[in-house]
Amino acid sequence: MSLKVHFLNGGYCRQFLASVDGRSLRLVRFHAVFLAFHHPTIGWVVCDTGYGGRFRPATRAWPYRLYRYATPVRERGTAAAALARIGVDARRVQHVIVTHFHADHIGGLGDFPSARVYYHEDALQSLAALKPFKQTSCAFLPSLVPAQLQSRSKVLSRDHFQHDADLSFPVHDLFRDGSLRLVHLPGHAPGQLGVQFEHESGPLLYAADAYWRKMQVSEGTDLPALTRKLQWDPPAYDETIARLRHLHSHGRFKLLACHDDETQSYLEREPYG
Ligand SMILES: [Zn+2]
Repeated sequence: MSLKVHFLNGGYCRQFLASVDGRSLRLVRFHAVFLAFHHPTIGWVVCDTGYGGRFRPATRAWPYRLYRYATPVRERGTAAAALARIGVDARRVQHVIVTHFHADHIGGLGDFPSARVYYHEDALQSLAALKPFKQTSCAFLPSLVPAQLQSRSKVLSRDHFQHDADLSFPVHDLFRDGSLRLVHLPGHAPGQLGVQFEHESGPLLYAADAYWRKMQVSEGTDLPALTRKLQWDPPAYDETIARLRHLHSHGRFKLLACHDDETQSYLEREPYG
């Protein structure tokens, strides 16, 4: 089943490309893309929410304020406003997938008060349990998590995922119809998920932050040691990248990542100039 999908921009931050390739002293944008799927019977399903409009208040207090200085962020309005531009009322959205709880993916989570929120069992609790300074270095801003989120969450345990031979990752078929398959891509953040779906151009794996730039999977570029160390579980990250490289070389699935420039070409409106 092929779903209509909208790629939306939820702001960006600037980083040196050297954080990926270890050498290019050029500032590049790390866009915070998020997705909105229209399912014919389920309705709208949103995957991630960008920086939203709450990054500044969420980084007002110490030590979270350090996050502002480490990654200068340019917000792009609320997730609700981005959805309104494609005719979707965020307050009525019933399903939100969180790939992982980094601030650039959950900044707009508060815009979806009616939604059931889906995430991996490791995704939130591992970060919520950290001390504030460690949360900051792990890109987690606890005030972006809506109160009572857990009461309307569907937390996906490992048992929900089954190994998929084609993808070579554990997969959970979210609506049991093959339309949206959540793929566990460990390493970058606790319980990180990607989404596999049938795009109009063919089978697509949206890998969220399992890699940042296409060169990591297409050219074998390894992260420099410092950036690799910032990943939640560096050995798991390496293993995930190795499998994604294999998947890319195989050519069966188109790979896209949240922050990669290539994903910008999938935006229908208002790409950044
Ligand atoms: Zn991330």
